[in-house]
Amino acid sequence: MVDEGAGRASRDRYDVVVAGASFAGLVAAIEAAAAGATVAVIDPHAVGTGQTSACATTLAVLDALGARSAIQQVHREMVVHLAPAHGTAPRALAYRLPYGWATFDYRDLCLILKERGAAAGVEFVRARVTGGRADEVRTDRGVIGAGIAIDAAGWRAPLASAIDPAHVRRDQLSCGLEAEVPQPRTSPASGLHFWAGHGTVWPGYGWAFPAGQTSRIGVLAFAKAGGGAGNASPSGRLRSDLDAFLNGPVSAMWSPDGGEPWAARHVGTGQAPTRTMVAGAPMHLHGGFIPCAPRRPVVGGVLCVGDAAGHCFGLTAEGIRAAMTFAVRAGQVAGGVAAGRWDAAEACAIYGRFAGARWPYFTLMRWLQRFVGALGDGGLHAYARAARPWPIFHFLMAQYRWAADPVPLLDRST
Ligand SMILES: Cc1cc2nc3c(=O)[nH]c(=O)nc-3n(C[C@H](O)[C@H](O)[C@H](O)COP(=O)(O)OP(=O)(O)OC[C@H]3O[C@@H](n4cnc5c(N)ncnc54)[C@H](O)[C@@H]3O)c2cc1C
Repeated sequence: MVDEGAGRASRDRYDVVVAGASFAGLVAAIEAAAAGATVAVIDPHAVGTGQTSACATTLAVLDALGARSAIQQVHREMVVHLAPAHGTAPRALAYRLPYGWATFDYRDLCLILKERGAAAGVEFVRARVTGGRADEVRTDRGVIGAGIAIDAAGWRAPLASAIDPAHVRRDQLSCGLEAEVPQPRTSPASGLHFWAGHGTVWPGYGWAFPAGQTSRIGVLAFAKAGGGAGNASPSGRLRSDLDAFLNGPVSAMWSPDGGEPWAARHVGTGQAPTRTMVAGAPMHLHGGFIPCAPRRPVVGGVLCVGDAAGHCFGLTAEGIRAAMTFAVRAGQVAGGVAAGRWDAAEACAIYGRFAGARWPYFTLMRWLQRFVGALGDGGLHAYARAARPWPIFHFLMAQYRWAADPVPLLDRST
């Protein structure tokens, strides 16, 4: 693996400066360097240490990145557990996935990408971006000049926000919180599991993504229509929702020590599990805000990618594939400036057109988030059943993949 090194910039100016060294930033940097640009990636944290995500994406993406070794578990099925507020226990609807999905190790994937970037000459700078412009990025360790800059620093978009303070809209942020916990050795799960309905976190959903010996179990609160993302929104109660979720619907799918499931601990005690019991169990928590609507892809000459550009599907909160799709293109057009193929203004126009063509899909997914979030339990049941017949589900999943698939772009670039 590459050496973190001093983490300092070795020069005053780079052809391409990338803020953020996660999915979007690492891929953009590799592409720009492959086009012949000098590239610096700036992040305050060591690469691979800032996981916020459940880390599920398509198998094809991990294959195209040459990152099979990061895979923890492959999934061929999705299960939707309908959890109504009243009446019956959750009802599970299974859907056969038309293409493979996988949960992967965040650190492993990031280090694979970092190693590839370093081999192409990318420099990794440990600093926090505090603002700047397209040709000058300010950090807490000094200013770095740029031929062109890319903001891939997540939902806060520090570079784009410094230019346009209205870039981040808090009413367009969902919020997720997730626990990484051992799977029960006796009954490990498979498939991507979702819980939806007024009997669980709502409007939003819960999930359990098995990942080898562990499982990522989380809850997501949809952005409140017309509301903020502060305490008034459902995000304010995410921790108690997560505890209730771990204690209740999902308690058979995890174990505090990898032994028997959490649910089994309470059999015969006559007691329901309590929040205190969950709080005492060892678990790693992570999460954060997730944009649910597309933002401007180019702000004052800065190319925005991934969460910084709202490239995350509102309804599902899936953003890794999209981050990489836009990152490949942003890296290529930024690298093209260094190679003399076009100037910075033309690069912005090319990237803007690429993003604009995909804008309707992200807008549709935001609209679907609102639509589904307004359904009652009956409507949700009907919606989930309507999508279930194989030809319909196959068609919907094909559209869903097509909307942001980095695989054809990555295949062409490697
Ligand atoms: C709980 C949860 C579960 C999720 N599960 C999934 C999932 O299973 N599958 C999926 O596809 N999507 C999932 N998502 C969404 C997904 O995580 C994001 O869409 C994705 O991480 C976006 O990638 P990114 O590279 O744009 O941003 P990030 O992954 O957020 O990376 C931003 C990077 O920028 C750095 N940074 C931040 N501020 C600065 C600064 N000022 N200066 C320099 N660097 C900075 C950060 O340290 C980080 O390295 C989930 C999100 C959450 C919150």
